[in-house]
Amino acid sequence: MKISPIKLIDENGRRIDGRLPHEIRKVKIESGVLKNADGSAYIELGNNKIIVAVYGPREVYPKHQALADRALLRCRYSMAPFSVEERKTPSPTRREIELSKVIREALEPAIFLEEYPRTAIDVFIEVLEADGGTRTASITAASVALADAGIPMRDLVTAIAIGKVEGLLVVDLNGLEDQYGEGDMPIAMMPQLGYVTLFQADGRFTAEELKEAFKLANDAIKKIYEEQKQALKRKYLKVAEIGEI
Ligand code: UDP
Repeated sequence: MKISPIKLIDENGRRIDGRLPHEIRKVKIESGVLKNADGSAYIELGNNKIIVAVYGPREVYPKHQALADRALLRCRYSMAPFSVEERKTPSPTRREIELSKVIREALEPAIFLEEYPRTAIDVFIEVLEADGGTRTASITAASVALADAGIPMRDLVTAIAIGKVEGLLVVDLNGLEDQYGEGDMPIAMMPQLGYVTLFQADGRFTAEELKEAFKLANDAIKKIYEEQKQALKRKYLKVAEIGEI
């Protein structure tokens, strides 16, 4: 654990960006933002800006990757070189490869993959600006983009990170809290069904804290879930209004 050079919680119990411990950052979600993709979504969560494009179900290339009993879900999480303070190399890093896998595994349980054998569903995630919690914001946006592509799903997937800062559980860590805090616990859920599809933990948490963290995640996820549904509804209201996508 790094010693923080700055105080992450002030004397009024407020965090470095003015939030209370259980507050999430301002969230904005839009669906259908890209004309050339089958489905797409854009999310802003605080300073994070992420765009997701979905293609498919479509033919699999290379063909030997095709699965006889279900669709192949492929995810690519990529950070733009200008998305972070220090220029990121444009070639895929180990972290990006790992996050692509983690995100795919968080989305897989929600999709009726078995309905589309021998096809591929491709999810491209481009992080334009990053400030902590990009994997969770990417999952949230990707599930909206999948729904926007008309891919049948059991539920949307919604994600948030719970962290520990100066001994306190906080919701939705920002970049500085992620860097200098004592713990980070990304959680993804299918909110309607109540299933957890991603659970990671970095740092030390007691059993009590773990229980509390899930409660906090549940509350935050409910709020973000509403934003996801609204984003999908807004697009269809627009289609009904102007008669095209
Ligand atoms: N980050 C960075 N440079 C990198 C990778 C990450 O500055 O090459 C920052 C970025 O703000 C990111 C944060 O570190 O959101 C935390 O990264 P982490 O690997 O914990 O994933 P995340 O919290 O974004 O899911």
